[in-house]
Amino acid sequence: MYSSLATRTRLIFGRGTFHGLPGLLTKPYPLATFGDVPAPNRQPEIKQTKLFINNEFVDSVSKKTFPTINPATEEVISEVAEGDKADVDNAVAAAREAFRLGSPWRRMDAAQRGYLMNKLADLIERDAQYIASLEALDNGKPYKIAYLADVALIVQCYRYYAGWADKNHGKTIPVGGDYFTYTRHEPVGVCGQIIPWNFPLLMQAWKLGPALTMGNTVVMKTAEQTPLSALYIAELAREAGYPPGVLNIVNGYGPTAGAALAQHMDVDKLAFTGSTEIGQLVGKMASESNLKRLTLELGGKSPNIVFADADLDHAVETSHFGLFFNMGQCCCAGSRIFVEEKIYDEFVERSVERAQRRVVGDPFDAGSEQGPQIDDEQLGKILALIDSGKAEGAKLCTGGTRMGDKGYYISPTVFADVKDEMRIAKEEIFGPVMQIMKFKNIDELIERAHNTIYGLAASVLTKDLDKALYISNSLRAGTVWVNCFNVFNAAAPFGGYKMSGNGRELGEYGLDNYTEVKTVTIKISEKNS
Ligand code: NAP
Repeated sequence: MYSSLATRTRLIFGRGTFHGLPGLLTKPYPLATFGDVPAPNRQPEIKQTKLFINNEFVDSVSKKTFPTINPATEEVISEVAEGDKADVDNAVAAAREAFRLGSPWRRMDAAQRGYLMNKLADLIERDAQYIASLEALDNGKPYKIAYLADVALIVQCYRYYAGWADKNHGKTIPVGGDYFTYTRHEPVGVCGQIIPWNFPLLMQAWKLGPALTMGNTVVMKTAEQTPLSALYIAELAREAGYPPGVLNIVNGYGPTAGAALAQHMDVDKLAFTGSTEIGQLVGKMASESNLKRLTLELGGKSPNIVFADADLDHAVETSHFGLFFNMGQCCCAGSRIFVEEKIYDEFVERSVERAQRRVVGDPFDAGSEQGPQIDDEQLGKILALIDSGKAEGAKLCTGGTRMGDKGYYISPTVFADVKDEMRIAKEEIFGPVMQIMKFKNIDELIERAHNTIYGLAASVLTKDLDKALYISNSLRAGTVWVNCFNVFNAAAPFGGYKMSGNGRELGEYGLDNYTEVKTVTIKISEKNS
């Protein structure tokens, strides 16, 4: 049943309040735009499976293909063209030509770039049901979430950056003597972008939005697990009227296509989202080739801190959402939950009860809160970490097993009595596995929260504003949520401290990644008589 918003919310999030998906949908804009969720298309037509170069869908030079798999059934959805170095070379050449001085793209009014991006957003809204269905099929996330969160948020993101097209201007600067100095904000050039599989549409939008609005050209490598939705967005970009070569998509594997992009001598900037391990690798490639500009959005092991004075119902639901959202496949998942001693036992009990109520099932079923993990490799990695938690003495309160024998499903899992030195407290699990730890006082807590290589996000749940601000100011994390989790908005920057990356995506800060600042100084002549 796909009915009213209130019913939908209860179906998805159980408690009948709108706190299951609160932050992702900062009201009222996306809801007003999208209204009720239409029924899904369970077998969306697969329209594009080739590489997108110079506004054409083409086979790879090698003619090789690879299968993309439905994680809910383990069946092949379709074969997809497999790009490698030769295809990256072709795509970069197309992007370079589109960026040539005097090209239609370089001569286009900035406002026109904004118009094109708004047109793209219009087309995404037109096809929202199809796009959300495609994303659910290829990624395994519940269709409703794909529709209400992913698609709604990419529309918001493209519209937000459309507005910036003609507003990121330079300055006039007072320098000494008879000089006139001003800055120009110019595009960086050809941008290589490598994205992961957990939010294929969103990761694409976070990168294309600022890159294209600032007048760059792009070669994007999608994740091998989830190439389909990005290709459809490319088709819509062509329909919107982007000139040939401005946007190019090369599907393929990391060590071939991804590495070719990171090492390419004619790529001016690399933006990477993925694991810290591969981030270090591509960072090395980027600097050892041509010192291309580099931004990295990497992994996390984010603390979620629950004080005894927090509203317990809200804290349990928010922590549940902060960890289990998107099958736990979130870089910012609140995967180290520190709970004050006084309420620890009750918090654990209620969290276990909530996890046991979580509805796991077919992503196209209206009631499903949780679909499958992305692939068998991730499934195996998560189960191995669960085993390590048990072996190291954490208390497995619920879950901990694969569900069924078809599809990569894992039962919602909660560990209590987790100690800081355990692997499950240190490593990114990227699955539906919650770790609950106990703390006694704030000073001890901050030290323990910092005891990680990561610094992506954090959250604090308390009614005490002083405490909330003290903790927020103290934590070394790119985002701190207070009494909420996963609140995303295109206007609010996102990125990591420490080994969670460098640079910020989204918001005005996100424009810096795609802008070169040029200083022009003009000598003012002596007054002519
Ligand atoms: P991943 O293994 O690092 O892969 C990310 C991308 O890099 C994929 O497109 C992958 O290609 C490519 N790649 C792999 N090896 C490469 C190489 N040698 N050279 C160039 N590219 C290469 O990460 P993932 O498993 O897809 O995604 C999960 C990770 O992403 C988690 O750690 C998560 O925290 C992080 N993440 C961070 C953010 C953020 O904003 N901070 C957002 C989302 C996800 P293949 O598709 O062929 O593997």
